[in-house]
Amino acid sequence: MTTRDRADACPGAVQTHLAADGRLARVRVPGGLLTGPQLLALAQAAVDLADGALELTSRGNLQLRGLAEDAPPELARRLHGAGLLPSEPHETARNVVASVLSGRAAGGLVDARPVVRALDAGLVADAGLAALPGRFLVTVDDGRGDVHGLTGDVGLVAVDPDALALTLAGHETGLRAAPADAHRLVLRAAHAFLAEREAQRSRAWRVTELDDGPARVACLVGGSATPSAVPASDPPVGSVDQAGGLVALVGLVPLGRLTTAALDVLVQVTAALGSEVQVTPWRSVAVPDLPDEYVDDVATALHHAGLVFDAASPWAQVTACAGLPGCAKSRADVRADAARAVATGTLPVTGPQHWAGCERRCGRPAGSTDVLAVEDGYRIGAG
Ligand code: SF4
Repeated sequence: MTTRDRADACPGAVQTHLAADGRLARVRVPGGLLTGPQLLALAQAAVDLADGALELTSRGNLQLRGLAEDAPPELARRLHGAGLLPSEPHETARNVVASVLSGRAAGGLVDARPVVRALDAGLVADAGLAALPGRFLVTVDDGRGDVHGLTGDVGLVAVDPDALALTLAGHETGLRAAPADAHRLVLRAAHAFLAEREAQRSRAWRVTELDDGPARVACLVGGSATPSAVPASDPPVGSVDQAGGLVALVGLVPLGRLTTAALDVLVQVTAALGSEVQVTPWRSVAVPDLPDEYVDDVATALHHAGLVFDAASPWAQVTACAGLPGCAKSRADVRADAARAVATGTLPVTGPQHWAGCERRCGRPAGSTDVLAVEDGYRIGAG
């Protein structure tokens, strides 16, 4: 069991973090869902106030880097205007990921989007839940198993079209609710986590960091905790057929960095179609609702802007922390080194690998092999 001796220090959009390349702001995007105007506001803020790009995080949130010391108030003003900062006290608590293309792609039992919206509204309306740690994660899975596999602290997974099951750190609780009510189960479980943390006089960031966390939190909400048998599934990459003859494109974003060029294309597409985008916890972006005749042009434009639509690409295997020059703790420019290894076909291992500039290994996905910068190069598989 991990013991924390301090509150988490996750950055937010208001509580920015001072990095080596300027202030870093993290904008929570519940469910990863962004309307066209929200994407435009973020893209403009990235150009006007930061380094021009948006970074995707492992929880489907977005970061702006290189902000000037006096930029955060203007960023907050713009985010408020775009509906991306509904409550400053809750800014780091709104960590909600949802199934990719839910309500659009085949296979889902429910549409996760209204569940996410109700959950987010309930969360920001509840003053007590502003105390949730920035590392606390909620997953809303439409039954396909994609985000359930991320083992959120509290989760919902659809088990039939009329019911979602409550999970705690990958354990089933035996509790279920209809789609319209399921968000209330999550809010109760979040309160139960905070109550159990208080009872244990703990500073835990995650349910599993509590003594017997899943079982005790489940007990507080009237359930029990048994290991989940819901199978995990891989997220989609490339084109995905939707109902009604529409198509979605899901593009990998190398190193999670959405450049100004890629943002320009995404903004144009969402403006032209009145659609939205979804950023995912796997550092990809989904562009839904494309009429068939637009798919090739949009895919080509996004490919030229750096997105990857081939699940077999080495980019599907590579993640990296910020490294130099963004992080002063780093021993190397890990992103440049990883990009060079991809370009030259010299990745040091096969399979998922996380390049990191120091032992903290920020942003490391579970199951990745470490490619850790050391004084004289990289060490593979360092724990
Ligand atoms: S892993 Fe280390 S070098 Fe990389 S971003 Fe985190 S603290 Fe910085």
